[in-house]
Amino acid sequence: MKNQIAKIKEELGTKLSTVSAADGLAVIESSFKKTMKELFTDMKALVPEDKREAGQLINELKNEFEAKFKAMRAELASGAKTEVTLDLSIASPEFVRGKIHPLIRVGKMMEDVYKEMGFSIAYGPEVENDKHNYEMLNMPYYHPARDMQDTFYLEYPNVLLRSHTSCVQIRYMLAHKPPFMIISPGVVYRVDEIDMQHTPCFYQVEGLVVGEGINLANLKWAMTESAKRIFGDSLQVRFSPCYYPYTEPSAAVDMSCIMCGGKGCRTCKGTGWMRVAGAGMVHPNVFEGVGYSRETQGFAFGWGLNRLPMLYFKIAEMRKLFENEISLWEQL
Ligand SMILES: [Zn+2]
Repeated sequence: MKNQIAKIKEELGTKLSTVSAADGLAVIESSFKKTMKELFTDMKALVPEDKREAGQLINELKNEFEAKFKAMRAELASGAKTEVTLDLSIASPEFVRGKIHPLIRVGKMMEDVYKEMGFSIAYGPEVENDKHNYEMLNMPYYHPARDMQDTFYLEYPNVLLRSHTSCVQIRYMLAHKPPFMIISPGVVYRVDEIDMQHTPCFYQVEGLVVGEGINLANLKWAMTESAKRIFGDSLQVRFSPCYYPYTEPSAAVDMSCIMCGGKGCRTCKGTGWMRVAGAGMVHPNVFEGVGYSRETQGFAFGWGLNRLPMLYFKIAEMRKLFENEISLWEQL
């Protein structure tokens, strides 16, 4: 019973500390009277030696709280304690405004630039099959180039996460006849170890232009022009021979390093250049695979979009784009 009384005392103390109106006090008082009655009834069942101690404690509790109720009634009646539930003078908590992720921002910038240049936008599924991701891009199952673009499988060997958005181009060509100019932006996946310039999931913006008389000079102009519209006229773009199974001839596309202005730094590994895209004239086997003539002319390119926000916002490491580091985002 000693513990029970201590508990009642504690609970009542808490209730009284929050009461701010006479009505609330009356409810507590009425409940207290009921509790007292129950305690006296319980006490009668105790053995004589415990009964004396319990009686004393119950009386102490009764006297203490009756005095408190009396004091509080007087306080409330005098208006010394008034009810305050809403304080309009309190400053509101700071509202933090979110921002669009740098990858999405640069992706939208690219889309706008290409739309200005007359391109349409095509989207496709991230979960692909072997046929659209490899085979129709001139990479049969035995082709060694598949190793460079190895991906993650949901069901081996046919259901996979696309390793590029070139499969969107295949789907587009199957459904349309030339001439056309499209870009296909989106997320792609590769079995790449994470380092300063690689992550297993990244964004690409690929382009495809097919039509009569389309040539390598058109490709060089389109890529240089789009890069300059984003990064400014002082940007240098260079093309060097490269190999891709789906284009012939193929080119690797480098941009002068924005971090160091081409002098050489950690991000560009001291070269002054950064590899940002791959491009080339579409291979006749690819055209044939989608039902076009082998004589069809067209070029394709693919920007590794993760590199561009790094350069645009001057972020030294690609993996920072996927770490929720608030202090970094606040600077952008
Ligand atoms: Zn550099």
